[in-house]
Amino acid sequence: MEKILEVKDLKVSFHTYAGECQAVRGISFHLNKGETLAVVGESGCGKTVTAKSIMKLLPVPPSEIKEGSEIIFKDKNLVNMCEKELRLLRGSEISMIFQDPMTSLNPTAKIGKQIAESLIIHRGMNKKDAFKEAVKMLELVNIPNADKRANQYPHEFSGGMRQRAIIAIALACNPSILIADEPTTALDVTIQAQIMDLINELQEKLDTAVMLVTHDLGVVADVADRIQVMYAGKIVERGTTDEIFYNPKHPYTWALLRSVPKLSTENKEELYALKGTPPDLVNPPIGCPFSARCDYCMDICKEIMPEVTNISDTQEVSCWLQHPLAPKVEIPEELRY
Ligand code: SF4
Repeated sequence: MEKILEVKDLKVSFHTYAGECQAVRGISFHLNKGETLAVVGESGCGKTVTAKSIMKLLPVPPSEIKEGSEIIFKDKNLVNMCEKELRLLRGSEISMIFQDPMTSLNPTAKIGKQIAESLIIHRGMNKKDAFKEAVKMLELVNIPNADKRANQYPHEFSGGMRQRAIIAIALACNPSILIADEPTTALDVTIQAQIMDLINELQEKLDTAVMLVTHDLGVVADVADRIQVMYAGKIVERGTTDEIFYNPKHPYTWALLRSVPKLSTENKEELYALKGTPPDLVNPPIGCPFSARCDYCMDICKEIMPEVTNISDTQEVSCWLQHPLAPKVEIPEELRY
């Protein structure tokens, strides 16, 4: 598969009064053309910082992308690009949608105008043609009476319709990459599924690669091709969606999977909650970052960072349990399908 984006040894820190907070600690991954990669983990694991670093949307200071980090897109390292070059790229080649549709839209401008703006800037269209295209985009994201709706303001749209309008803005210039940061978190459960279906449908139609950032593994089951699990600024496991759901290897992935509510009427157990909190990234642990919360923690885990073990061509995990000398531990019973 053709790689469209490659992130190499990305390190991002925030300079705080308490010291240097190492939010992302040397992660490497790639995104293939037209695929959906889900980046999953709880709040503070570094997934949003990773997404915003690709767009270089983090405020400098307090944030800093450390030397040696590379974000390669079309043979160029985005880390070294100036703001002027990046502005041309954002919205036309790489677009991003955020969790709260209300704060992403300009409340004083009509929806059609907000979609047209990016076509005028990036495609050089005149106002009239750009507005016509904006109406077509609203139709594409299934907004009824698109020509009338294009002349309305964000407050006249429901939450779900606002998120559809944001998707229309993000995809107006047919970008190669769409980064969706918790795109359904602020929406009702019924609307969440519609928005995920819409992103999936448009991705296939437009052949856009999607990086989907979420804390909820349940959301990505039907839409992701691959999943990478982040914890304390590191990637602890990655694999195809089937590998992560049917053959997960990392105790943190097990915990995330156990936290997904099940519909079965037979299973009336309380929803699993992972105990403890993530480590302080101003003083990150020298060993496995998950050791303080892990039920399977061994002495080595607290002292040495786990090595990466390849489970298959597509799955790898950072956990000492995969070491040949480690005691045999089975995947928890409730996760066996
Ligand atoms: Fe748990 Fe040790 Fe694996 Fe870390 S390396 S996840 S502490 S078993």
